[in-house]
Amino acid sequence: AAAALGHSVIPLVNKLQDIFAQLGSQSTIELPQVAVVGSQSSGKSSVLEALVGRDFLPRGNDICTRRPLVLQLVQRKRKADGTDEEWGEFLHLPGKKFFDFNDIRKEIQAETEREAGGNKGVSDKQIRLKIFSPNVLDITLVDLPGLTKVPVGDQPSDIEARIRTMIMSYIKRPSCLILAVTPANSDLANSDALQMAGIADPDGYRTIGVITKLDIMDRGTDARNFLLGKVIPLRLGYVGVVNRSQEDILLNRSIKDALIAEEKFFRSRPVYNDLAERCGVPQLAKKLNQILVQHIKTVLPGLKTRISAALVSVAKEHASYGEITESKAGQGALLLNILSKYSEAFSSMIEGKNEEMSTS
Ligand code: GDP
Ligand code: MG
Repeated sequence: AAAALGHSVIPLVNKLQDIFAQLGSQSTIELPQVAVVGSQSSGKSSVLEALVGRDFLPRGNDICTRRPLVLQLVQRKRKADGTDEEWGEFLHLPGKKFFDFNDIRKEIQAETEREAGGNKGVSDKQIRLKIFSPNVLDITLVDLPGLTKVPVGDQPSDIEARIRTMIMSYIKRPSCLILAVTPANSDLANSDALQMAGIADPDGYRTIGVITKLDIMDRGTDARNFLLGKVIPLRLGYVGVVNRSQEDILLNRSIKDALIAEEKFFRSRPVYNDLAERCGVPQLAKKLNQILVQHIKTVLPGLKTRISAALVSVAKEHASYGEITESKAGQGALLLNILSKYSEAFSSMIEGKNEEMSTS
């Protein structure tokens, strides 16, 4: 999918990882986790799915996500024949490969029920799913249950406090990027997502505001002031999206069609015409990519130091054993050189993008 998260960062991360692999180094680039927060049915699972570009999460106008789903995307090299094999594997079913993404959704539902029961119960025990694909970036996304206020079904009377604690345990980590999801048809000042993100990340360095359901706002209203940060300012700004409605889900509408419909929606609404960079799932993916790039830039000097240290030890080895290791040291020096050049090119690329970010 064109909008999928990580498209511009994949070649970069691949290159770096190749360099480390050739050096025989264990160092890799660890990317931050991305977690979604918001009230129940605000569109969290829908946003994550759109970012991944595949249908596989339970979604609906009821409580669907009842356990934290830790979704680890793992990049696989494309096969020589060009076929894109993609599959999922659950930690609780080792060795079983799911090639059909509908089966992944069914297994998430079944595993949710095994732990949290069939009657709306919630559990903080994670479901861990890995998706292997040539089209993803090595990154972890966390889908979380939404905040609810009134216990239903088998939920305990303190359901709200429990879910808050669960969400907080993820988003308080300094390495977690927060997608704070609020539907456009509710008041931003009442947003659970922004309230919790504000506690976990008071300076707003790792919170992106996501406004969903722009298509079902009350007639005569629009989300301009939300998106412009005039209602609640956010350092990293907001992106408005239109996900699939419940009817679209029932009709099995594909992500691809949904993206086309979203684009058409924004194009046909003059109020959003001058806010193009704040509208649409592709823009959200772009924003996340920019943040990831920024992150990589921050961790690169540390990686360079580690490689230099590895080189020094190779050189020492060389001094004590003679010629044998020379080629290895030479190769290491060459790689370090590539990495340095790469990070320079990269820094200038980011500088260009910084402006774009600070205006949003
Ligand atoms: P979650 O509980 O926050 O994970 O929300 P879901 O992703 O499960 O979505 C809840 C319901 O809202 C589903 O029926 C979705 O189809 C619907 N929905 C989500 N985003 C949008 C949107 O942008 N527009 C419309 N019309 N419906 C949406
Ligand atoms: Mg959900």
